[in-house]
Amino acid sequence: SRTPLMAGNWKMNLDWKQGLALVEDLGDALKDVDTDAVEVAVIPPFVDIRTVQTAVEAGKLPIAYGGQDISEHESGAYTGETSGQMLAALGATYALVGHSERRQYHAETEQITNAKVKAAFAAGLVPILCVGEPLEERKAGKHVEYTLAQLEGGVEGLSAEDAAKIVIAYEPVWAIGTGEVATPEDAQEVCAAIREALRGLFSPEVADAVRVLYGGSVKSSNVAEIMGKEDVDGALVGGASLKADEFAKIAGYQS
Ligand code: 13P
Repeated sequence: SRTPLMAGNWKMNLDWKQGLALVEDLGDALKDVDTDAVEVAVIPPFVDIRTVQTAVEAGKLPIAYGGQDISEHESGAYTGETSGQMLAALGATYALVGHSERRQYHAETEQITNAKVKAAFAAGLVPILCVGEPLEERKAGKHVEYTLAQLEGGVEGLSAEDAAKIVIAYEPVWAIGTGEVATPEDAQEVCAAIREALRGLFSPEVADAVRVLYGGSVKSSNVAEIMGKEDVDGALVGGASLKADEFAKIAGYQS
């Protein structure tokens, strides 16, 4: 069975001092959460990753962490980019790939997300591939089709061994930062379709192994309902991950 993953994407929030304060608060807030039953992760800005690493290595924070993006290149003259190797050397487990904000504001195509997924695996990281439809596609009833096309583009050419390790985050764009959370039924519909697609693209074993997260206005007040759905294996949390107590409540949704 799949261990749920609760990941907090800080996006471009908090400077290093505020990041340090959140890390310290999280250490306390997570004390009551059974981190064997639920995997907890933070995805901070790159400038905060060393802070998280220091707390984790000191045994103060029982969580995994990762980068919000990863370069598709290995190293060299790519100003502003961060490589998979750099993240791995910081002890990171994850790299977000293809977040809708990257697709929308940084022109990330499916070809680029696919290259980044592969770069993550090459560095020994686990990519969290984000997919999900804009409002227009949902209104047109094309949300499943649209999301699965992003999925297929993102995982193209992966071995079954790598595919079994990937994490998929279904984040409908209209639910991100809007307070308008998808209904548990909406989340389940698309997460199940993602799993079904993985079955066809790879194998039943891969489909069973992959964790499919929901993201978009997740809060402590709505997380349990969404997590109650069979094919939802966790949450990718934006705004609500910036407050230690609230994020800990989300991570501890079972208690
Ligand atoms: P919010 O939780 O702020 O809606 O953001 C979701 C998200 O994009 C996480 O990656």
